[in-house]
Amino acid sequence: MAGTGLFAEILDGDVYKYYADGEWKKSSSAKTVAIINPTTRKTQYKVQACTQEEVNKVMESAKTAQKSWAKTPLWKRAELLHKAAAILKEHKAPIAECLVKEIAKPAKDAVTEVVRSGDLVSYTAEEGVRILGEGKFLVSDSFPGNERTKYCLTSKIPLGVILAIPPFNYPVNLAVSKIAPALIAGNSLVLKPPTQGAVSALHMVHCFHLAGFPKGLISCVTGKGSEIGDFLTMHPGVNCISFTGGDTGIAISKKAGMVPLQMELGGKDACIVLEDADLDLVAANIIKGGFSYSGQRCTAVKVVLVMESVADGCVFTKDVNKAILISDAMETGTVQINSAPARGPDHFPFQGLKDSGIGSQGVTNSINMMTKIKSTVINLPTPSYTMG
Ligand code: NAP
Repeated sequence: MAGTGLFAEILDGDVYKYYADGEWKKSSSAKTVAIINPTTRKTQYKVQACTQEEVNKVMESAKTAQKSWAKTPLWKRAELLHKAAAILKEHKAPIAECLVKEIAKPAKDAVTEVVRSGDLVSYTAEEGVRILGEGKFLVSDSFPGNERTKYCLTSKIPLGVILAIPPFNYPVNLAVSKIAPALIAGNSLVLKPPTQGAVSALHMVHCFHLAGFPKGLISCVTGKGSEIGDFLTMHPGVNCISFTGGDTGIAISKKAGMVPLQMELGGKDACIVLEDADLDLVAANIIKGGFSYSGQRCTAVKVVLVMESVADGCVFTKDVNKAILISDAMETGTVQINSAPARGPDHFPFQGLKDSGIGSQGVTNSINMMTKIKSTVINLPTPSYTMG
């Protein structure tokens, strides 16, 4: 059960604690934020309303912890992530219970979200070991005017402190999709969970705590986005913001300083139905796509564009050539052919264009986005050409 057994230490009376410096803490604000159960309309949980001073401390420890984490061997980072993933999956029941009570996620989908999140963490650990284990070696004489007197070695280095802000509808999955890439790449991470979904996220963070990550490397500060959001996103200690949500992201992008942004915002998710479409497939997908999880999925179908001749029935196309032509012509980040819009599987790149996003989600892209390239150039006194 949520807040009991292994999770008892994250609860103080009827208020969930926040997580900083490897410990569960009460806020000095002595204020709490109520989480309403959408089904009963009553207060289900309470979380701490963290102060600006507490945010400052979290940023300081995140910065310190990151310095030694970046020197932790990649395989060890991966090992800890695998451990966290296993603990998360083992404790899917209490976390799923929170998802049901905080965001009215159907029970089966709630369990799926936790298991999928564990898998995402493990996959990210694997992917990180592969892609971060490789760099590039360049020679200077491929550029006109140069002899081979310079060798350039490039590697991917961490950015520092990543601020992660996920939305209410996938508070666990969209939190770990930021946490895991940040950590495998050698960054530290500060999570600001959505208020509705905060307790699920706190339980998830406890699984990372139990896995044994160093103190200060992961923190979770709770409070209303409208109250501490600006302070967090404009904090000078933040080196990258990964945000998923609505138009709040547009406002954040205008306020954030010169830090990389990963913004995954809302879209229109139109379905196009051509004359030759399999109408049974279309109908099933549009209904599922529009109404599953009460239409609260970010990729829920919002618009259906149907050729007049099949308007009484419905969609897609059996003609892959037409599908590709339409896909190419559409100014949109992600196109699904013959299925309702969807984000997953979690390793597929998923992105928006214009006001619906900056950058790209998906395991590999998130790891790359949370790193930058460092070049080390070796200058030779005389040209040197490698002989075969
Ligand atoms: P939201 O209202 O934009 O909130 C998202 C997050 O931002 C929450 O954690 C919220 O905290 C926080 N926040 C609020 N004000 C802030 C501020 N001033 N500074 C920093 N953070 C602030 O979105 P939502 O209603 O939770 O989620 C639904 C939206 O997410 C929809 O538009 C949906 O399309 C989008 N979404 C997109 C994807 C994708 O992959 N592209 C996936 C899922 C959802 P509080 O909860 O405390 O306010």
